[in-house]
Amino acid sequence: MTDLAGRDGPRDECGVFGVFAPDAEHEVSKLAYYALYALQHRGQESAGIAAADLGGHMMTRRELGLVSQVFSEHDLRTLAGDLAVGHVRYSTTGANAWENSQPVHRSDRFELALAHNGNLINAVALHGELRERGIAFRSTSDSEIIAALLATHGADSIVDAVAAVMPQLEGAYSTVVTTNDHVLAFRDPAGLRPLVLGVLPAVGDGPERYCVASESCAFDIIGARLVRDVRPGELVAISSQGIETRQVVTGAREAFCLFEYIYFARPDSRMNGDVLQAARGRMGEILARESPTPGADLVIPVPDSGTPAARGFARASGLPQDDGLIKNRYVGRTFIQPGHELRRHGLRMKFNPLPEIVGGKRIVVVDDSIVRGNTTRQIVAMLRDAGALGIHMRISAPPIKHPCHYGIDMSTREEMVAHGRTVEEVAAELGCDSLAYLSLEGVYEAVRGERGRHCDACFTGDYPLANSAGAQHKDAFEHALPLVRA
Ligand code: SF4
Repeated sequence: MTDLAGRDGPRDECGVFGVFAPDAEHEVSKLAYYALYALQHRGQESAGIAAADLGGHMMTRRELGLVSQVFSEHDLRTLAGDLAVGHVRYSTTGANAWENSQPVHRSDRFELALAHNGNLINAVALHGELRERGIAFRSTSDSEIIAALLATHGADSIVDAVAAVMPQLEGAYSTVVTTNDHVLAFRDPAGLRPLVLGVLPAVGDGPERYCVASESCAFDIIGARLVRDVRPGELVAISSQGIETRQVVTGAREAFCLFEYIYFARPDSRMNGDVLQAARGRMGEILARESPTPGADLVIPVPDSGTPAARGFARASGLPQDDGLIKNRYVGRTFIQPGHELRRHGLRMKFNPLPEIVGGKRIVVVDDSIVRGNTTRQIVAMLRDAGALGIHMRISAPPIKHPCHYGIDMSTREEMVAHGRTVEEVAAELGCDSLAYLSLEGVYEAVRGERGRHCDACFTGDYPLANSAGAQHKDAFEHALPLVRA
């Protein structure tokens, strides 16, 4: 699993889950709990579940913390129901962090709970329109804007309300909503963030029960089967009547996030018909083909994120592979954000080099990405201290030079080590003997995808959606909006 703690990589904003299972002995909250457990890598700062009885009441519990910290056995019993949505979030800390945790609950015309992964690029304009209509907000998250548009809509049904609201939204939205009779899943027409449909085994002669999630690993843990992607621009409505799908919006082009394959998603999730562990292995193989390292003795990964690609690199280059860095898996995540200096200590807590493995050797160190370079610089220094004779960094992604406007919290352009530097200059900055990145073509070859159907803007600066240049970073958005309490 991609582990974001202690890394300086980009951070995904959220993981979402929804389930309609009226005959699951009211245990939908447990299904949601375990699904969120599997999606924990997509957000570690808050977690929440909203559950509803069919035709009855809705309850929400959301709190700052990991899934295992937020929910007790008692909470899950209290959240009994037939329909549920869940959410894990990465967010900035601050006074209003709890308010911005999800699911967002609103009970205007429609009562609903909403979980969203993505980033609206017209959030400020939509917020202004809603405020003019006298609609109050409890949070500064763009997710509540979607919730407010839906909950206040004049349509006859919540399904029609979603179909009417989707065309108003610009940006990335993989969204799951529950009312007390429907679970709805819908995705932006570019399909920027993932969203998949699954099915739970039927109980007795009962109907099949559907679920939706950011990644298929959430289905594996609860015994559900991956059916397919929720298509870009599609609305999937699940109720006692079964499953209804509508193609609501069609975009100029699809733009699935290329970084999901490289970094964000768990290696046991399936995307584009392939398990990511295999795709990441191919990235390593292609990297070895593109940037061989004659004279090297050993390949080591930066665990765990670089492990599949390191294995592929070793396979393709014929070099032996070993673990030269041991990761302490029990370094907990914390709400206390380390400063610059403490980040270094945190990193030393996390990785320990093995002089017996790397000492006296010329080593190839494989990782999946470099953003600011602080982590890599530390790793290079540690390996040198441990006696490595040569350190050749190989990265299974192109250089990251541009910020993301579609739901990923990246460093600013100026903080990115590859911004404005040649590869040689970055190598000098990191202190390694050589540095090579996988080419963009190499990534597309590894994931067997077409460039015209993906977003690769953080590598290329080619933003796939119109208006992206005017998009606000989420902090800017929060600054632009007053926190208005309902
Ligand atoms: S800019 Fe990068 S991280 Fe953001 S959606 Fe595009 S590929 Fe993904």
